Amino acid sequence: MNVLVLNCGSSSIKFQIIATDLEQIAQNADQRLARGIIERIGGEAVCSLQAEGKAKQRSTAQLRDIRAAVDFIIRWACTQESGVDAIQSISDIHAVGHRVVHGGERFQQSMLISDEVLHGIDDCIDLAPLHNPANIRGILATRELLGAGMPQVAVFDTAFHQTLPEQAYLYALPYQFYRRYKVRRYGFHGTSHRYVAYRYRNLLNIPREQVNIITLHLGNGCSATAIKAGDSVDTSMGMTPLEGLVMGTRSGDIDASIIDFLMSKEGLTAQEIEGLLNKQSGLLGISGLTNDMRELLDEARENNDRRALLAIELFCYRARKYIGAYLAAMGGADAVIFTGGIGENSAEIRARICRGLEWSGLQLVEAANASMTNGNEGLISAADSRLKAYVIPTDEELLIARDTVRCVNKVQR
Ligand code: ADP
Repeated sequence: MNVLVLNCGSSSIKFQIIATDLEQIAQNADQRLARGIIERIGGEAVCSLQAEGKAKQRSTAQLRDIRAAVDFIIRWACTQESGVDAIQSISDIHAVGHRVVHGGERFQQSMLISDEVLHGIDDCIDLAPLHNPANIRGILATRELLGAGMPQVAVFDTAFHQTLPEQAYLYALPYQFYRRYKVRRYGFHGTSHRYVAYRYRNLLNIPREQVNIITLHLGNGCSATAIKAGDSVDTSMGMTPLEGLVMGTRSGDIDASIIDFLMSKEGLTAQEIEGLLNKQSGLLGISGLTNDMRELLDEARENNDRRALLAIELFCYRARKYIGAYLAAMGGADAVIFTGGIGENSAEIRARICRGLEWSGLQLVEAANASMTNGNEGLISAADSRLKAYVIPTDEELLIARDTVRCVNKVQR
């Protein structure tokens, strides 16, 4: 089954085409056929498209909206020049899997998209006003372009965290706000945390119930999740992705009173403050330079830039603090897993986060840590470490393709 995986944002689409079916899933033999990204949709869009094993094709195109961009991707895949040999015409696309950001309390697993499911995603717009509308547009565009008979599946970023107990998901606000508006912690990056937990279980060859780990997804957005007996029991992002760790441009945890304070001091609206917390804070805000961790590390190394170093320190301190909190919340864990662009590639950040965690039994091995970059997977702590550490590259698109196959075949994971 050739699955088109779409991650539609407000002005960009990331996609992959993955060939997989139930047998290939069981044998871990899924095949990636193509991948790409289209950015700056709405005007002269920038397209980067690549058939597996072939050269990247870069171009620009006038793409008015998400529909035009999805159309562009499908047309490209069907051309001879794309190099995606398995796709000759649209009949070679058998299903479409969508990353959907917010599934609220309604969606606890991936769903085959019906009108009812679509309404459910629409109902969650209140909770994710920036993200869900783009996801819906992607689903409707696909339906228009590939026909209502094309199976489409929604894979929710929040679904994996629906196992959080009340004490972890409720805010200590007047309870009626939870009742009335469902104000609570939902958590995000669920597909990534679930995927690395699955890989960990595979690596160790243990059943799901024996998975007791803390996963750290450190990319542009960052989140930590406590996974006990295979289930997410706490996670650092909240009702929106703003809460928790220090991120590229997001502040993570702050005292809510700061919002009112800054509104009056700076004469800003609540909306402007929200923009500031989401887009101008985090690594960018502290360093005053960039949200890109690689650039910050270079700056700290080459110029000993004080604020670059400070941003790195804040980032690592907050991550370490969450590991400690989750060890307490879970009554101990077997391993910490690093994933995401920073978690997968930066030995220095991993070492800085782990420094000071020796009390917990975590003994990092420098050479093993240094060797884990560029998609390598494996143990970075001593084999007899009481708390182990691993690097496991995430693969959200693969999980979306697999869930799509399972939903189409009506098989539970
Ligand atoms: P997204 O969350 O948008 O998917 P990624 O997971 O790709 O983003 O992570 C992007 C982050 O990873 C950036 O801050 C980038 O600088 C960082 N990164 C990538 N490679 C390295 C590296 N070798 N060392 C340090 N940081 C890196």
